[in-house]
Amino acid sequence: MRVYFTRPLPESVADMAREHFDVEMRTDNTPLKIGQMRAALNLYDGVLVMFGDTFSAEVFRDAHHPRCKVLANYGAGINHIDLAAARSAGVMVTNVPGAVTDATADIGMTLILMSARRAAEGERMLRAGKWPGWNPTQLLGLHVTGKTVGIIGMGRIGAAIARRCHHGFGMDVIYTARSDKAPGFPARRVEMDALLQAADFVVVAVPASPETRHMIGAGELAQMQPHAHLINVARGDIVDEAALIKALQGGQVGGAGLDVFENEPHVPGALKAMDNVTLLPHMGTSTLEVRETMGRVAIENLRAALAGQEPPNLVN
Ligand code: NAP
Repeated sequence: MRVYFTRPLPESVADMAREHFDVEMRTDNTPLKIGQMRAALNLYDGVLVMFGDTFSAEVFRDAHHPRCKVLANYGAGINHIDLAAARSAGVMVTNVPGAVTDATADIGMTLILMSARRAAEGERMLRAGKWPGWNPTQLLGLHVTGKTVGIIGMGRIGAAIARRCHHGFGMDVIYTARSDKAPGFPARRVEMDALLQAADFVVVAVPASPETRHMIGAGELAQMQPHAHLINVARGDIVDEAALIKALQGGQVGGAGLDVFENEPHVPGALKAMDNVTLLPHMGTSTLEVRETMGRVAIENLRAALAGQEPPNLVN
């Protein structure tokens, strides 16, 4: 069976895959273009795809039961793949859900702490040689312990962030989701408006979809407390970036911690210009250990699908 990796992955992952398949690994780190995606569907039995490889309906338009039987996504979010079009073409789609949870929750906590405590601003000042030495009114941030965190989307990652906030920082947890959750610690489901008005930290953890696009816009940001911070570890287009910039510039919100952006890798200059914004380059899952585990899960999905079995993480 021929399997294509659309980006270079750690060698250990490629070695794991070579135990099962004839593997071709692309050496380029740019997202696939439409012609390359179509070619991949025709040339390989399975393709390991990832964020940025936009398998839209257009890609599948002329693909009727192509050679490719499975697109194994290397990540949890599958908003870059048109699931219905893939299904119509006879292509299974799988993802890697659980393996990414803790690492992404850790980046969520990193952003909460960096944003609240002005860590990036302090580091920039120090590296620029502008630190005059300790003084009692320097870089006064927002105290985190005991505050209220509002989780938008209490799924795997949202609950893992909430768990850290509750157990590690004694925070009150409120959340929105489409159904009540029992995370094993005190947490209250509330309406979106109530969450926005009460939270000191609003954390976005819903998947990207047509329903969640710009779920956080001008109206939502206006409801947040002026000292509150917005944290996004999910996908960039869930937050209306232009509205966020306006809210930050107008002092409607206290700060923002962002791991994801609307048009990656473009990050608006207005965000970079504001000291109360912490910017990370989409690094939720970026540890070698996690990327290896993600590889193991994706390969198991490929292996099962190509052996004619139902893959463990089938999403369409
Ligand atoms: P998950 O377990 O599926 O949880 C998603 C949560 O969002 C659930 O609580 C769900 O509510 C809620 N939700 C879904 N659609 C909604 C809608 N239309 N309106 C309101 N709530 C909705 O997903 P996860 O594993 O936590 O991952 C969440 C997202 O994080 C992924 O989709 C991915 O895009 C992103 N991610 C980012 C990184 C990174 O590097 N920054 C890494 C991994 C994942 P119900 O439970 O009620 O259905």
